[in-house]
Amino acid sequence: MIYDFIKNLLVLVYPNKCVFCGKVIEVNNLKLICNDCIDNVPIFYKNFFIDSRNGNKGFCAVKYNDIIKSSIYRFKYKNNISYAKYYADIMFKCIENDSRFHADYLVPVPIYKSKKRKRGFNQSELIAMELSKYTEIPCNDMLERNRNTKSQSKIKFNERQENVKDAFVLKKGLDIRGKNIVIIDDIYTSGSTIKYCRKVLEENGANVLFFTFATIRDLDK
Ligand SMILES: [Zn+2]
Repeated sequence: MIYDFIKNLLVLVYPNKCVFCGKVIEVNNLKLICNDCIDNVPIFYKNFFIDSRNGNKGFCAVKYNDIIKSSIYRFKYKNNISYAKYYADIMFKCIENDSRFHADYLVPVPIYKSKKRKRGFNQSELIAMELSKYTEIPCNDMLERNRNTKSQSKIKFNERQENVKDAFVLKKGLDIRGKNIVIIDDIYTSGSTIKYCRKVLEENGANVLFFTFATIRDLDK
């Protein structure tokens, strides 16, 4: 597959650097996370979060901090797409053997067509595809973004709801009644994006949780 080809090419061209701090680590260390970062990245094991502000429920793997911020920046904007695999690895460890995590489909938060063309990939889809390999739950890009919204990180918190309201639709001809769906995204911020994705899926009869790699907010447990 073209994706695997590009991934392998990137591994050849770039030396192995820690996914989190960017430090060069041993060539044969397939983990790509240095020993310092394994100790310093705040990972939530076995946690189920409830966002009382908008009713979202689900899982986050790590608390957002400066290390995570720069890592996600390199992943999204510097083409370090292989990071998706390492994020998914950490995410899987957080929900492995947790009976509250159950799904028929992993559904990535969609990005708008032109943005995907420009960036070359949808970061949430890459994470969902990698997580799918660990969980053996199929990844399904059943949601579409029907307009180009502003980046949630570039606007004020209270404007974020309006920005993504009604921005998502379910692809035509899909029957998801009674299905358990987990929405996948890279970062949990205001929760508005997850909320409006969730609403579309719930209106079509699905039960919906979310799972993001990182969370900026302290959510209730
Ligand atoms: Zn590191």
